[in-house]
Amino acid sequence: MSILIYAESAEGKFKKVAFELASYAKKVAGDLGTTVTAVTVNAGNISELSKYGVDKVLKVNSDKLSGFNAKAYADVVKQAAEKENVKLVLLSSTTDSLYMAPLVAVALKAGYASNVVGLPVSTSPFQVKRNAFSNKAFNITEIATEVKVLGLAKNSYGVYENASSLTEEDFNPSLNDADFSVKVESTEKTTGKVTIADADIVVSGGRGLKGPENWGMLEEMASVLGAATACSKPVSDLGWRPHSEHVGQTGKPVATNLYIAVGISGAIQHIAGINSSKVKLVINSDADAPFFKVADYGVVGDAFEIVPKLTEKLKAF
Ligand code: FAD
Repeated sequence: MSILIYAESAEGKFKKVAFELASYAKKVAGDLGTTVTAVTVNAGNISELSKYGVDKVLKVNSDKLSGFNAKAYADVVKQAAEKENVKLVLLSSTTDSLYMAPLVAVALKAGYASNVVGLPVSTSPFQVKRNAFSNKAFNITEIATEVKVLGLAKNSYGVYENASSLTEEDFNPSLNDADFSVKVESTEKTTGKVTIADADIVVSGGRGLKGPENWGMLEEMASVLGAATACSKPVSDLGWRPHSEHVGQTGKPVATNLYIAVGISGAIQHIAGINSSKVKLVINSDADAPFFKVADYGVVGDAFEIVPKLTEKLKAF
């Protein structure tokens, strides 16, 4: 009895959340003595999932599913869960997965817990920790149904390599015409920027940058690194940056490979949201800034001198 994950992809490429979900599932499966099966929809490089411990992939390829359709995708996950006789189904907390997960749960007559952070607190009874009120509070939720659906909070666990030998199987679920009564004809991206949720590297700025006019140097460094940009809470409160970039306890959680904090003091509420990042590089003019206590690498100095120099060096790679 495997654990099933829905490995989300966009334009054929897996999203970072798919690898985070696989990493999480692998750990849970190890604790439960079982394996990880993934169901994919029109995804390209299936073998990538083997890096993160997925043992089996049910591949769905269908022109009908080329655009996201919550009801139809939920039905695919439900049929995959039934085929594999799965008792635990894991989804992420992207907009698409948040839309699908309750539909999957209803179809499987399963209990559903969203915003799960961390590994199950207990497997018998089955209890998970969830965040609430934008990370201001946590609760422990017990799911008593035989089949359980969990929505893992984005960037709450991290991505860990754990190679497995993967088997692939074509899966042709039956699609219900009634689910296709509304069709998205075309989509258009408003920005080509890397999002915080998908980024391997995040370049983040604080009040030490003095004003919105100085963000160009962070944008440039982020562009050279293929990174997303983020900011501290006061920066978005002041309107220097959009609220979507606010990270920390009350903002978005970040669990990247590299988090670069520029001119951010390292208040506990900021650290709470980014501490799962693997490597933290802090640039701050104050050697006593609290952020240095949790940094892996620290540069004491003026951001306006250091960031452009660092960017020039990075461009040379
Ligand atoms: P500051 O504290 O003003 O720090 C600026 C830093 O820049 C200083 O360390 C300074 O030495 C450095 N600096 C100045 N000039 C330069 C320079 N030229 N070069 C390099 N460094 C320089 N904050 C968050 O970020 N996220 C949250 O989710 C969050 N949630 C909160 C929830 C609650 C309930 C509360 C009470 C607070 C929350 N805060 C949050 C706010 C948090 O407590 C801090 O006030 C905030 O993180 C500080 O932002 P900052 O580091 O950008 O600014």
